[in-house]
Amino acid sequence: MTGSRVMKKAKAKLNITTMTGSRIKKKAKNKRRHTPNNESHSSSAAIKSLPRDLLVEVIANVASHSFIDLHNLKKCSKDFLNATEDNYVWQQVSLETFPFIEWYPMEKKSSFLERCRKSGNIESLYREGLREYFNHDPSGNINHGLEFLKVATQKGHKEAKYVYGMILLCSKDDDLRKQGLEHMRFLRKSKCVISCRKKVQRFLRSMWTNNSMVEHNLSTLCNCKSTCNGWRVKRGRWFLLDDDDDDYDTSLCEYCRWDHEIKYFYNRLLNAY
Ligand SMILES: [Zn+2]
Repeated sequence: MTGSRVMKKAKAKLNITTMTGSRIKKKAKNKRRHTPNNESHSSSAAIKSLPRDLLVEVIANVASHSFIDLHNLKKCSKDFLNATEDNYVWQQVSLETFPFIEWYPMEKKSSFLERCRKSGNIESLYREGLREYFNHDPSGNINHGLEFLKVATQKGHKEAKYVYGMILLCSKDDDLRKQGLEHMRFLRKSKCVISCRKKVQRFLRSMWTNNSMVEHNLSTLCNCKSTCNGWRVKRGRWFLLDDDDDDYDTSLCEYCRWDHEIKYFYNRLLNAY
C-alpha cells in the first residue's frame, strides 16, 4: 500500500480530519451521550491498533491545517494527547491564527510559540528568517535569517520559497540567480506566485525592513531590447492581481516575467527604488 493510501485509510478510521474544531468536540460529546459502550470501546480499540507513527502522521496533518483542531483533539483521548506531544506534530502545526508581530505577548502564547520554534516548526523558521533577514536593527543576523529561510524553503514552505527565490534572483552571482529562477518556476507552475507575494507583503508591511540587505542587480534577465515575445502587448494588462492572471504562457518571454517580479519586489515589497 502506498503512503498516501495508508494515510487515507487511517483518516477514514479515525474520521477526524474533515471536522472543524467545534465539530470534533460536539461529536465527542454526542458519543459519550448516545453511543453504546461497546461502540465507543471499539473506536478506542481502533485508535490503539494504529501504529504510533501513523497516528502521529494523521495528527500532524490535522495540526498543519488548524491549531484549534489540534487543541480540541487533545481533549478527545489520552492516545491523541500523547501523540500531539510528538516533535513532528509541533513542526507541522499551523500558526495562521497567530499574528506575525505580537505587540502584546501573553505568557501562554509566548511559551507555545517558543516551543514551536525550538521544535523546528516550519512556519516559525520562516517567520524568524524574515525577521532576522529584514530586521531594521543592524545587529540582526542576516546570515542566520537567510539560513532559516533556506531551511523553511527546503521543508516546502511556499512563502519562504518566494522570499528566498527572490533574494537569489536579485543576486549579482549568476549561479545564485539560476537557483532563484528554479524556485520561482516551481511556484509559478504551482500557480501560487501572487498569493505568496501577497502574504509576504502583508508580513513585511508590519515590520521595519532594512532593504539594503538585498543585493540590487541592475542587469535585467532579458537581454532583448526590442519588442519581446508579446511582453509589450501584454505589459499594459499584466497587473497580475491573482494567480489566474499569471498564466504559464510559453509564447511570452519568461525572463521578462521575472524582471517584472524583481521590479515589483524592490518597489512594492521593499520600498526600494
Ligand atoms: Zn523578454
